[in-house]
Amino acid sequence: MATSETNGEQKDLKRRQLATVENYQLWVNCGGICSFEGCNKRLIASEDGKLTNVGIKAHIIGHAKTSPRREFMEQYNYTEEKLEDLDNLMLMCHHHSKLIDDKHTKDDFPPDVLFKMKDDHEAWVRSWSENKKKKSIALIHKRFGGPITGIEYKGDPPYILLDAIENQDKFEDFTEQGWENAKKVNEELYKQFEEKIRQQEADVAEVFPLSPIPLLVHLGSLLTDTVPVSVYQLDRDEGVWVSDHPLKQQEINLNFSSDVRGEDQLAVLVSVAGSVKLSYVQDVLGDKFDSVSFAIDNPDVKAVLYKQDVSYIQSNIKREVEKLFQEHDYEKVHLFYAGPAGLALEIGRGINPNIWPEVCSYQHNARNKPRYKYALTI
Ligand SMILES: [Zn+2]
Repeated sequence: MATSETNGEQKDLKRRQLATVENYQLWVNCGGICSFEGCNKRLIASEDGKLTNVGIKAHIIGHAKTSPRREFMEQYNYTEEKLEDLDNLMLMCHHHSKLIDDKHTKDDFPPDVLFKMKDDHEAWVRSWSENKKKKSIALIHKRFGGPITGIEYKGDPPYILLDAIENQDKFEDFTEQGWENAKKVNEELYKQFEEKIRQQEADVAEVFPLSPIPLLVHLGSLLTDTVPVSVYQLDRDEGVWVSDHPLKQQEINLNFSSDVRGEDQLAVLVSVAGSVKLSYVQDVLGDKFDSVSFAIDNPDVKAVLYKQDVSYIQSNIKREVEKLFQEHDYEKVHLFYAGPAGLALEIGRGINPNIWPEVCSYQHNARNKPRYKYALTI
């Protein structure tokens, strides 16, 4: 378990440090969620401390002589040594850990209120189904725009989040060297991610992508199935991450066409968020290429959000392209993509190096001519 902070008391050097196993147990007992009644904020135990929704270990009976509720120590049969036991600690979000200790509000939270809150919260977590008690590590790859400081889900959190790995540095070097460097950063990031999954024995990898497409296709190609991978997409209207839709079935219609002339280059056109015209590809590759096109009806940036639609498109692309590989020996595949982040990552995950030749990924920019520019090879 990564570090968490203690609430706002004076540092007491004699204070017992929690063992790793105790930290882990506290985290799991709380389901990785703020224990304050009605909060439900999902916490992250971030080692680098960049994400702000880091869990705080709050004391019910404070430790230092002057800290909140310290005067109740004897009444509740605690001794100084026992104040660090898990039964006196609650995991909380920053806001609520401050609220229960603030001099203006602490009187609203006597020990009885907090002990009950803790019991109720932990009973609720225990009542979860076995599936919901699975533990995950998050991978946040957001190299567009500003960083996110927390992960907001639509609905109930599906897993107990143990930890997060992130790269939220804005990607700005669109030169070939820049892309090459970013590939190395991806590889390093993925190594750390895999290490955390192994060390903390996580059951699931949760991936939150919002980055330039070639980087996501590349990241996807690194993601193995050591543990199940759950990919989310950002619903920009609501500012929450979504994956499975509990009710929605796959709804979109995917059109497919190919033009095979026996060339040794294959262009794959994917029109989901916008239309990829054949002329865009010709601007880059000339005229000597085979092509296969996938397009949904009325491409739009908001057309594909949920996993059901993402899986449907990804599996169709993979199937049709691999059919062509059986009939033709292509030297290279060129991916011209206009679609959402999660689908780009899933397409990358579907690239099997035993079956696929080299895949060249291109970056789109509507203001440039040509619109697509070579970025990197997978
Ligand atoms: Zn809270």
